[in-house]
Amino acid sequence: MYHRVLDNEDVFSLSVQNFRQQMAYLSKNYQVIPIKELLRLMNEGGLRSRHVALTFDDGHLDFYENTWPILKEFSLPASLYVTTEFVNARIWLWPDLLKFVLNNTSIESINFPGLGEVRIFNERNAAWKKMANHLLKYNSLERLAHIKSMASALDVELPKSPVEPFKPLNWKQLKEMEADGLDIGSHTLSHPILSLETKRHIFKELFESRNIIAEQIGYVPEGICYPNGMLDDVSADVIAEAERHYRYGLMACRDVPIASKYMIGRIAAPQDIEEFKLRLVKG
Ligand SMILES: [Zn+2]
Repeated sequence: MYHRVLDNEDVFSLSVQNFRQQMAYLSKNYQVIPIKELLRLMNEGGLRSRHVALTFDDGHLDFYENTWPILKEFSLPASLYVTTEFVNARIWLWPDLLKFVLNNTSIESINFPGLGEVRIFNERNAAWKKMANHLLKYNSLERLAHIKSMASALDVELPKSPVEPFKPLNWKQLKEMEADGLDIGSHTLSHPILSLETKRHIFKELFESRNIIAEQIGYVPEGICYPNGMLDDVSADVIAEAERHYRYGLMACRDVPIASKYMIGRIAAPQDIEEFKLRLVKG
């Protein structure tokens, strides 16, 4: 499981050099297969520990600029799960919006509801982690309201569409990569914590994002990747809806309670190559 591949200290990302090193290692020592193939092998009992499928979440511009050229360099198949309203540049991904606010304030600390006084000055990353973790409790509307009131308290104006380094890639770039072999799946419409949303909203997030991708790319995506992807973020209603519209679902954690195509565990790629090798073995 990968997210961003980017050399920028202001955002959490894997460096370009480390990513290339990991792809070189995988192409030499493992058999990297499309996720479709991995699912087939899972079904038939043919899955081996040397099999690896590469997945990427969200749809930031660095996938087009940094990640894809390296995947092509090593001829590795991959799947990218995009949040469609983000690709449409109509919304920010909320962890990015939070990061943007913290990166752009000169105010040194804030009294954050539920957390008390949080220091920002010189501790932006720690503050971001603490706040992002706290904000996971809320549904989308509540969370956005919290971030907006925090932005106003910190005297930061929120741009309507994401700005550098938080920009999405666009449909033209996705089509170009798809024609070149990239598999595209859904990461919902707006990246909510699905288990906290109403049934109606879960339906909308899963069904409409699927249709937008089908319209834009020309085929119905097979996979849904659940935002945040921990066990608590995926309820029985979420799984039921995923089963209606997709052929499989991806978690963001490794260990899942049941073997199901709709709760496929994933291993997060770390920065360090030695840790990377270890996680692959433990997989
Ligand atoms: Zn995500």
